[in-house]
Amino acid sequence: SDHSLEYPAAPSTLNWDVYFPAFSSSGKTPEFADIGCGFGGLLISLATLYPETLMLGMEIRVQVTQYVEDRIAALRATSSGANYQNVSVVRANAMKFLPNFFPKHSLSALFFLFPDPHFKLRKHKARIISPTLLAEYAHVLRPGGIVYTITDVRDLHEWMKAHLEAFPLFESVDEETLRQEGRGPIIDAVYTSTEEGKKVERNAGEKWLACFRRVEARRNV
Ligand code: SAM
Repeated sequence: SDHSLEYPAAPSTLNWDVYFPAFSSSGKTPEFADIGCGFGGLLISLATLYPETLMLGMEIRVQVTQYVEDRIAALRATSSGANYQNVSVVRANAMKFLPNFFPKHSLSALFFLFPDPHFKLRKHKARIISPTLLAEYAHVLRPGGIVYTITDVRDLHEWMKAHLEAFPLFESVDEETLRQEGRGPIIDAVYTSTEEGKKVERNAGEKWLACFRRVEARRNV
């Protein structure tokens, strides 16, 4: 249960300096959000690729969040320069109050990497991609922003794809197009950088990638 979790009343009440002290007074807010970041592999590998981009992991498990926090603190302390100053983590239920964390249109990338599958039909409402939540994801993502999803569970892949394709503010974008746009390093990290992704590799499992672009609201004609 997450009744003990505290949420900011609004993004404007959040003091990002606590999470990104090296960027204090830069006016920056996170641009990448890794939902259910687990042990933080994606954040760690993207941190040095995009050192000027703030990235936040959201994780619901206390110990796992603490692990990521410690991991980032250790990297910040041992690496020279401003490395890893741009990544941080927060313990939160990402299915609740996401718009309380991120200002409207502030994100350029949202990651859902190997989310919990919730196999049983009655558990589908617990899935992190659902029609209700897509409206929140569209709110925090800027037009042009990308949703990255990957899973080793084919049924979940089809589910996420179907919901995102049906939602008017998202359009499917293929891997090749994203690579041509210069997002190859992100795609590579999505495939291989997370702990769950590595586990799937060890077990020679398949990975299903699906990406979507946040489009401008359609005008009424
Ligand atoms: N993305 C990571 C990776 O690829 O290694 C972790 C994948 S793991 C299968 C799913 C993670 O999502 C778990 O760490 C779990 O605690 C977290 N999670 C599940 N529901 C969540 C929620 N509502 N909000 C935040 N994190 C959640």
